[in-house]
Amino acid sequence: MSGSITTLGISLELSEEIEQKRAQRQAENETLQEVFAPAQLRWGNVDWIVTGFLAFIHIGALAAFIPSMFSWEGLAICVALHWFTCSVGICLGYHRYLAHKSLKLKKPAEFVVMLAGSLSGEGSPMTWAATHRLHHQKSDQDGDPHSPTDGTWWSHLTWLFVKRKGENRDLLWKRYIPELVERPMMKFFEKTFPLWLWAQGLVLLAAGTMYGGWMTGLSWLVWGMCVRMTFAYHSTWFVNSATHLWGYRNYDTRDHSRNLWWVALVAYGEGWHNNHHAHPSVAPAGHRWWEVDMTWWLIRGLRMIGQAYDVKDKLPKGRKADDVPAEEADAVAVSATADTAA
Ligand SMILES: [Zn+2]
Ligand SMILES: [Zn+2]
Repeated sequence: MSGSITTLGISLELSEEIEQKRAQRQAENETLQEVFAPAQLRWGNVDWIVTGFLAFIHIGALAAFIPSMFSWEGLAICVALHWFTCSVGICLGYHRYLAHKSLKLKKPAEFVVMLAGSLSGEGSPMTWAATHRLHHQKSDQDGDPHSPTDGTWWSHLTWLFVKRKGENRDLLWKRYIPELVERPMMKFFEKTFPLWLWAQGLVLLAAGTMYGGWMTGLSWLVWGMCVRMTFAYHSTWFVNSATHLWGYRNYDTRDHSRNLWWVALVAYGEGWHNNHHAHPSVAPAGHRWWEVDMTWWLIRGLRMIGQAYDVKDKLPKGRKADDVPAEEADAVAVSATADTAA
């Protein structure tokens, strides 16, 4: 529609260009809403590479029940890589650094955290960050890529099974991470993240075999990759499912986000998800003294050695973690004071 507004004799023509842009933006919104709709999950539209890889890792993890597969070194690698890929890679790197810009990193630290994120098997940094920003913008409304209002399993896992076209991924990037797409390091990890994933499996197998024979090699592969990735996947997926379902609220946000202690433990602080939705760009996710946030410890450590800077470590003036009454906590009222996403 092209029209004119006349106020006190001043005529303001809405230009064709603005109208076109508005219409284009509306069409893009509708496309993205459709791309992430649960109705997309049907047999003819399954991403068999992602689904097959997730199945392979979960089946591989079952091999841990074979007693001869166990080794103490394998268990130690499992724990160390869980922390490295989950806390360093996903929680710090993909989430607080890329998606929310809660801190800045020097180049060496940036490379290490992007590498850690790539080794997690949760996809490329850019697609992860863009999808997460969309989650914050639409959380628990139509267009949220993984809300439990569309089903608990959908939010936890099955939203990942849908095949999404390259052109839709490009649209998601254009709309949600325009500042990241031209960065050389992002381009590098976009091209190479699957290689890092397979290389770590080969390295674990080869190093274990050289260390103690082929059974040790298999043990390192099963525990260091399959068991670790299975635990790490569910640790982070619980943030999308469980912390939008169960727990308490410090803030009256417009979504269903909750703080859930056991997710905070397995996901290195990300379980304080209501705090995070209320203040997405604040680096610490624990807002009360007992809300332990291991990823925040890591950020403080990086700041101390000069690898992290401009860390957003304060709540906006006048805000603190106030309890909200239970009846209000269940309401989905729009909070006038909650920060905007990303
Ligand atoms: Zn959320
Ligand atoms: Zn977030």
